[in-house]
Amino acid sequence: MKLRSKLSALFLLMILASCSSESEAPDKEKPTISVNYQEGFPKSCTVLKKGQKYTVKVQTSDNIGLATYAIDIHHNFDHHTHDDQGAQCTLSPVKTPITPFIFMQNYNIDGAPKSYEIQQELSIPSNIDSGDYHCQISVVDVTGWQRRTSIDIKIE
Ligand SMILES: [Zn+2]
Repeated sequence: MKLRSKLSALFLLMILASCSSESEAPDKEKPTISVNYQEGFPKSCTVLKKGQKYTVKVQTSDNIGLATYAIDIHHNFDHHTHDDQGAQCTLSPVKTPITPFIFMQNYNIDGAPKSYEIQQELSIPSNIDSGDYHCQISVVDVTGWQRRTSIDIKIE
């Protein structure tokens, strides 16, 4: 009983401390991310050609401000899925990767805008495995909240 009252006193102190140290309401909202608009790219099931250049276009927004984004392209020869995936496309048979395309880059968003359109040029090498890929785009707000979208694409 004695330990319990000590613990609850400590807990109460922690609550009081956390309340008094915060002047603003905490940010509880994740940023948004979407390719579902006319210029958005790549949309689900898009086929990209080797040796070509494309511009990734993704609209993002946040209630306070956007800080960084990342683009991650990896093969889906093993038919894995992501919980943030939109539509699923018809996949080619499972196969073993030999020289799969791997792309992973982080970028800063200057000025912490509340709305930002990612426009990132992307070159697809010509000496890579054809097949199913995932294009994952994520955005992080100034508080650290992250939102991700995983898009099924093909590279041929
Ligand atoms: Zn994946």
